[in-house]
Amino acid sequence: MQLLSVSTNPANSPPTALDALLDIDHPTKMAVAKWADEQLTPTDLPTRDEQCAFWAEGWQLAADNGVLGLMVDPEFGGQGADVVTGLLWFEGLGYGCPDAGLNFALACQAWTMQPIVERFGTDEQKARYLPSLISGEKFGAFTITEPDSGSDSFAMSTTCARNDDGAYILNGTKAFVTMAPEADVFVVFATNNPALGSWGVTTFLVDANTPGLTVSANRPKMGLRTTPFADVTFDDCIVPETQRVGPDGAGASIFTSAMEAERAFVLAFQIGAMERQLDDAVGFARNRQQFDKPIGDFQAVSHRLADMKLRHESSRLLLYKAAGLAIEGKPSMEAAALAKIQASEASIASSVDAILTHGARGYVTEFGVERNLRDVAGGVIYGGTSDIQRNIVARMLGL
Ligand SMILES: Cc1cc2nc3c(=O)[nH]c(=O)nc-3n(C[C@H](O)[C@H](O)[C@H](O)COP(=O)(O)OP(=O)(O)OC[C@H]3O[C@@H](n4cnc5c(N)ncnc54)[C@H](O)[C@@H]3O)c2cc1C
Repeated sequence: MQLLSVSTNPANSPPTALDALLDIDHPTKMAVAKWADEQLTPTDLPTRDEQCAFWAEGWQLAADNGVLGLMVDPEFGGQGADVVTGLLWFEGLGYGCPDAGLNFALACQAWTMQPIVERFGTDEQKARYLPSLISGEKFGAFTITEPDSGSDSFAMSTTCARNDDGAYILNGTKAFVTMAPEADVFVVFATNNPALGSWGVTTFLVDANTPGLTVSANRPKMGLRTTPFADVTFDDCIVPETQRVGPDGAGASIFTSAMEAERAFVLAFQIGAMERQLDDAVGFARNRQQFDKPIGDFQAVSHRLADMKLRHESSRLLLYKAAGLAIEGKPSMEAAALAKIQASEASIASSVDAILTHGARGYVTEFGVERNLRDVAGGVIYGGTSDIQRNIVARMLGL
């Protein structure tokens, strides 16, 4: 595996969250950004965005350079890097690689799907899935949302009844699943009794070729159009007991623990993209002349850019605060909820400001500025909507 020339050897003192948040140009982030800028910048992005086409070569290049295996234990072929290094890499990726759909797909697998296998899977499951997931040979997806249970995730109706052989029979439909059209294996949450709510939920690893599992056609969406996206249906899909992850009924705690801080970590690539967006907007404001001076000389424009800077830095601070708490084993749910709200909503506000700064060039598709707004809009929905994150914060406030 050809790795980026970035030290991830824990013996070399991995960066702390404080190192990362104080150094906006952290060398790890900058090295990945440079690499992504040089190697992960597809020339056909506008066409693929229009056609909702996934960049398979980009995915393989990222896997070959260690992006998917970065945080996975060396026993399974990974590099065993810490969370802060992982966030710095994804920030760099978001800065250098303009294909946000590719970055989002990589982030979902690296921060959500693989950690469930690694943290909660059996030795056999880890050995079977992790090496081929991190090498890029296989794709993984994570499915909890259903047509009738979104924010209220544990009100799911996908069932997992047991047959006489001890195997599980899955029935139901999961909706809006990132990477479903490409996935070889799904993390699936199902219930053995919908009346039990969160107590009835169990987690499984289900291979895409299991009889009874079907994936819908790709569902085109507003942004992140290069990330394949579909529904998954289970129709008397028989899953052996060996594919269960964790004990019966542990699904809700697996989900909650896996999402505690990761719901914010997934957005690290988007924070990198915000910085690139700011740099591009500053460059444009310096060069674009109106009324015989650069538009950046007008206070209305320069203050807009200052607001973009403020949003970017405050998103980073909250992200690395959540990371620091998670690394120290302290509760990080509130910090992660705040980081997720800030990063996702700030990205939308800054994308509007970038469009305004570029004038018509910001609105016309060929310049790529408007694509950012479409790409970041999903951030206030996936991983729990902004409303749900505010509910978490309010609960932590004792409300
Ligand atoms: C780009 C993208 C990728 C995704 N990838 C995946 C994936 O890989 N796997 C997966 O399982 N799912 C995925 N999802 C689905 C996502 O997790 C859900 O869309 C999300 O949880 C919201 O559910 P919903 O769409 O059903 O909206 P609903 O839950 O129906 O919410 C509709 C509105 O009501 C509000 N609302 C609902 N309940 C409350 C409440 N209690 N308090 C305040 N407001 C509330 C919401 O905030 C929202 O504004 C993805 C979604 C997107 C957009």
